[in-house]
Amino acid sequence: MPEHIKLFIPGPIEVRESILQAQVKPMIGHRGKPFEQLFASTQSKLRAVFYTSKRVLVSTSSGTGMWEGAARNCVTDNPATGVLATVCGAFSERWADVFERNGKTTTVISVAEGKAIKPEQVADAIKAHPAPFDAIAIVHNETSTGVMNSLADIVKVVKELSPETLILVDAVSSLAGVKIDFEGLGLDVLLTSSQKCFGLPPGLAFAAVSDRAMNRAKGIKNRGYYFDFVELESFLVKNNTPATPAISLLYALDQQLTDMLTEGLDARFARHAHLADLTRSWALSRGYALFAEPGYESQTVTCVSNTRGTDIGALNKYLATRHMNLSDGYGSLKGKTFRIAHMADLQEADMQELFSAIDDWG
Ligand SMILES: *Cc1c(COP(=O)(O)O)cnc(C)c1O
Repeated sequence: MPEHIKLFIPGPIEVRESILQAQVKPMIGHRGKPFEQLFASTQSKLRAVFYTSKRVLVSTSSGTGMWEGAARNCVTDNPATGVLATVCGAFSERWADVFERNGKTTTVISVAEGKAIKPEQVADAIKAHPAPFDAIAIVHNETSTGVMNSLADIVKVVKELSPETLILVDAVSSLAGVKIDFEGLGLDVLLTSSQKCFGLPPGLAFAAVSDRAMNRAKGIKNRGYYFDFVELESFLVKNNTPATPAISLLYALDQQLTDMLTEGLDARFARHAHLADLTRSWALSRGYALFAEPGYESQTVTCVSNTRGTDIGALNKYLATRHMNLSDGYGSLKGKTFRIAHMADLQEADMQELFSAIDDWG
């Protein structure tokens, strides 16, 4: 057994012991009644967490798989339309790359790291494009910079200027930590992975998909195989999956969803907001700054500007002796920033434990 280090990194996040234990059950076949019951039980609760009455597709993959699924099922091969990818950091840049590598015409708009995508910029891109985009891709919470984009403001301009454009949202590091009302906002794809705000081990990805996105998919010829939304849906209606799913993880998911709904979604979101406040206050009071543009600081992960020149590698070595771990900056932001996740099932006491340890180090 590896030593238990409490994870304050933005994925995989700390998983509670009872959730780890929920996986340890005898294996069942995925073509029998007990599996159908398990899958149905997760589906009804997933719909509550995604605020949808329609469908939440489940794949045995990380979130990146659903990125590819959204690209292949929602964007046509018409070079005149394509996708508008909004880039504000490393993850949104990678999703743009996924569209390109799947042969989709990709128009990119971007902002400097630490900045948020603004609705005016999206409006300008839509107006400048001769044909309506098939889809727009938005990363709600850019995990590399700690920026949380204003989904409602961006969605509003898309609905006004280009109502036929599908709205694809990556909420990998925010869904289940922040309220995202799929139907209320009128989104078309809302995807996430298991190892972030869901507080599960990695290995599952989820995507709420609208009826109009399903209809778009049906008209697209080369949807691929593993992430074909039409295929996933045709099995989902029978409480099943096309290929063998990660059954042990589904046991953990079922337990975790029950626990989330018992905590109450609003209480869960309020806890995330509170932990974000605590983390920002701690950072500012110690002479650090926040990397995210004011007003767009993430509720689930704080990206701290390393204004004190702290040696993050050395800090993490010390934290390991206290059985904790945080994240250095992502990519080019390494050393210049560091990141503290306050997501999933972390509590105020966990954050205080981390802050005291950092303070002790100096
Ligand atoms: C972690 C992350 C991803 C990648 O998800 P995987 O589950 O690792 O494939 C994508 N987008 C964002 C915003 C993320 O934080």
